[in-house]
Amino acid sequence: MASASRRFDAVVVGGGHNGLVCAAYLAGAGLDVCVLERRAVLGGAAVTEEFHPGFRNSTASYTVSLLNPKVIRDLDLAAHGLAVTLRPFANFLPLATEAGGGYLKVGGGLAATQAEVARHSRRDADALPGYYAMLDRVAGVLRDLLLTTPPAIVGPEAGVAGLLDAWKLARRFRALDLAGQRDVLDLFTKSAGDVLDRWFESAPIKAAFGFDSVVGNFASPYTPGSAYVLLHHVFGEVNGQAGQWGHARGGMGAITQAMARECARRGVTLRTAAAVARVVVKAGRACAVELEDGDVVEGRRIVANVNPRLLFEQLVPAEHLDPDFLARIRAYKCGSGTFRMNVALSELPDFAVLPGRQAQPHHGSGIVLAPSLAYMEQAYFDARTRGWSTAPIVEMLIPSVVDDSLAPAGAHVASLFCQHVHPDLGSVQPGRDWDDARDEVADLMIDTVDRYAPNFRASVVGRRALSPQDLEREFGLVGGDIFHGALTLDQLFAARPVLGHGRYRAPIPGLYLCGSGTHPGGGVTGVPGHNAAREILRDLRRRRDR
Ligand SMILES: Cc1cc2nc3c(=O)[nH]c(=O)nc-3n(C[C@H](O)[C@H](O)[C@H](O)COP(=O)(O)OP(=O)(O)OC[C@H]3O[C@@H](n4cnc5c(N)ncnc54)[C@H](O)[C@@H]3O)c2cc1C
Repeated sequence: MASASRRFDAVVVGGGHNGLVCAAYLAGAGLDVCVLERRAVLGGAAVTEEFHPGFRNSTASYTVSLLNPKVIRDLDLAAHGLAVTLRPFANFLPLATEAGGGYLKVGGGLAATQAEVARHSRRDADALPGYYAMLDRVAGVLRDLLLTTPPAIVGPEAGVAGLLDAWKLARRFRALDLAGQRDVLDLFTKSAGDVLDRWFESAPIKAAFGFDSVVGNFASPYTPGSAYVLLHHVFGEVNGQAGQWGHARGGMGAITQAMARECARRGVTLRTAAAVARVVVKAGRACAVELEDGDVVEGRRIVANVNPRLLFEQLVPAEHLDPDFLARIRAYKCGSGTFRMNVALSELPDFAVLPGRQAQPHHGSGIVLAPSLAYMEQAYFDARTRGWSTAPIVEMLIPSVVDDSLAPAGAHVASLFCQHVHPDLGSVQPGRDWDDARDEVADLMIDTVDRYAPNFRASVVGRRALSPQDLEREFGLVGGDIFHGALTLDQLFAARPVLGHGRYRAPIPGLYLCGSGTHPGGGVTGVPGHNAAREILRDLRRRRDR
């Protein structure tokens, strides 16, 4: 076993965007930091790769909103080339005949959306301003919590300071009027369907908003807690415009490449093709990692960007963990039921309800193929019992409409983000796994788009499909979970990943967590990395950490 002589102040396991953000902040504070990434490219689930000769696209995550403005500023990402373009409007929902036909466009300003919604329901158009205001108020509460470390009210760090922090947080909630407090409670606990049914009557508008509640969430939109997942998708902003989603020029890899450049500028050692096999614990303290090739990298502290289950089930030897903690980690829910495809297209989809093969605003929006909440619920039930639905939920984005760096002139790339497929296929189709079913389901997704845009199948000249199993194998996303763990109330805030260790510190001294399996959860936010760095530096200042 080779042993490196250099001992870093911090070794970050995983070069996903949160690992890079954490490393940049630590290096900015003067620490000597090393990032070890298993893949050949930095960025984790936020990368751009060529998937067909001449065609590049974001491989996993594909659209930006949640990336925190403070992180963008502090890491000078714009100076490193990050440019985010707003979508022409947010969503386009072509509707099948059984859902009334036609289409719905959402976004492009309140008046434009109201005019669109009024074609389906005058009452819903009138309800829109109130709904947006309610959502914005509750999202404001969540935004305030993002950069906050959950208070230490239980667990090893609990104390008076933790109670004081909790009281300060409660004050933010109490500042709302009673209606606002009820809305917070609703959105943190109820199903998205229950919330939306109270506000709206027409299926398409409920589908447009309800789609966010099933993204990465293997559940029905009527499952309690799904309203929180909806909320989780609206706390972001693009170029200062709250709640909007946009496109990073060059794909999501442009974000992480910019982060990597800032890390390099701050002196971080960045290593790719460096898979960590084990966290080394000596005298009760994490002090090094051993790579799969046998190399050992020493660090005064180890910071894990990987999914908590991957960390504690695979990388930390079990003898260093309390059995109750380990049992709870094993029960930490992971498995979003997401199927992700990139397709290379010879031409744009020609939608039956809005014809044309030349780029139009709807081609640049998030195209949602799921006309009602009932459709989404059925897709979930089918997947839960049979593996997938023959009527799946597909969101399609065609980034090449707003970014000519991704495909040859005249051609296009599209991201297909498909929900619901069963993360553990063998449990409902004994004897089968995703390697066996991938192509069948990829064909189904293409056929699903083809039902709305009949030139689609013939226009596909190349494709790459990632099943839940592929997402786990390729990126270490346990159960294919795009958020490093379900965003359910029992796994949020101070309980992410486990109550008592929701403050970025693992139960082993010298070991920290900085990935999406910590508060505030998944999405390309940079927030877990930011918050973890702050806690590590806080421990250093208080000399709690050598
Ligand atoms: C298909 C898909 C679509 C998504 N769409 C969006 C979207 O459009 N917008 C959005 O905001 N979010 C989206 N998300 C969620 C978002 O991408 C993730 O939550 C986020 O990127 C996770 O970042 P992270 O840094 O916490 O972890 P990751 O990006 O998962 O990084 C962890 C890193 O650790 C590495 N690693 C694993 N094991 C080891 C090891 N043993 N040794 C060394 N390195 C290791 C991995 O290779 C990876 O690079 C999507 C995710 C997926 C999968």
